[in-house]
Amino acid sequence: MTQPLGPAEIVVDLAAVRANARLLRATAGVPLIAVVKADGYGHGMVACARAAQEGGAEWLAAATVEEALALRAAGVEGRVLCWIIGPATDLAAAVAADLDVTASSAAHLDALAAAAATAGRPARVQLKVDTGLSRSGAPRAAWAELFARAREGEQAGSWTITGLWSHFACADEPDHPANDSQEQAFHDALALAGEHGLRPELRHLANSAAAILRPSSRFDAVRCGIALYGLDPAPGEATDIGLVPAMTVRAPLLMVKDLAPGDAVSYGQHWVAEHPTTVGLVPVGYGEGLPRHASRPDAPDAAAAVGIEGKRRPIRGTVCMDQVVVDLGGDRPPVGSEVILFGPPSAGGPTAQDWAEACGTINYEIVTRIGGRMTRRYVGQATGDAS
Ligand SMILES: *Cc1c(COP(=O)(O)O)cnc(C)c1O
Repeated sequence: MTQPLGPAEIVVDLAAVRANARLLRATAGVPLIAVVKADGYGHGMVACARAAQEGGAEWLAAATVEEALALRAAGVEGRVLCWIIGPATDLAAAVAADLDVTASSAAHLDALAAAAATAGRPARVQLKVDTGLSRSGAPRAAWAELFARAREGEQAGSWTITGLWSHFACADEPDHPANDSQEQAFHDALALAGEHGLRPELRHLANSAAAILRPSSRFDAVRCGIALYGLDPAPGEATDIGLVPAMTVRAPLLMVKDLAPGDAVSYGQHWVAEHPTTVGLVPVGYGEGLPRHASRPDAPDAAAAVGIEGKRRPIRGTVCMDQVVVDLGGDRPPVGSEVILFGPPSAGGPTAQDWAEACGTINYEIVTRIGGRMTRRYVGQATGDAS
């Protein structure tokens, strides 16, 4: 990256998003539903939605109806699925915007019938069944009621049932018995829906991990989020299909100073230099979404690191709101040097997965929470794409 270093920034490579979409589409061999919820896992919802479509994604998915409406407001066309309906959600707007809205209960269907009447056109509705996550989705005891109401509304012209779906709890652990039992339960739901006269066009169950690791779960489409952004959905499993991380977080090195043995670093003075060393100041902190836990007060040797001039530089002392101190081990890179907080391996620093392991979390959380005062810059736009 040859750009002169301004403030800390998030660089999102849309060519990587396109390529990842293409890879996932080819690997799964069924239509790809590209999940762009939570501002595209921190990568930028609208730009990533367009890049995913350019890479061959037939569908987009957001979590909330509001996110899906924001995609439409930005001019994004094509099929868009969403599944979180709040008490104040404008379902008539969702119907008017041609979204595929998910119903998990008969109450959702009643609200959608009213919305379709208000919008003056039939809704597009997908049904969600709970097969073992105990989150959203109709529990098994409510399937028959949901399917009966869905069929009744279809015959009354309130909607078309465009899909039936569920979500895995343990897809990142391919040998977990819940995967088999959830897939079996999903087959049960499909059979029962058929008995109620429903013929949903799109049956889908797999997230990124299942799309790659569990061919039997692919059905008519796969819903991929984390893999679209190039991160590993199931670290340690056989998921390497050539995905490339799309996000690089970089900042300028602000200051270099000498520490003598006994000098303590940052709030609480939890880290104390044992030997003479140099440290560098990086203007990114928990205000930008770095986990404060990244300094690992319990195990300082396991602290997260940044990359400077191709070398790993571990965080020393508590992560502050606006800044973090890293150990330069006696080196003196020039002020203004590029600091890679994380990115693809080719960026020469740690990966989001490395940060996740240091912080005891998953790569999803590292990229999704990053932001704060940082600006986002897109590279790798498709020719003619102004996004
Ligand atoms: C977030 C989400 C996905 C995408 O999961 P990944 O593991 O990121 O691929 C798919 N389906 C549902 C219901 C989700 O909430």
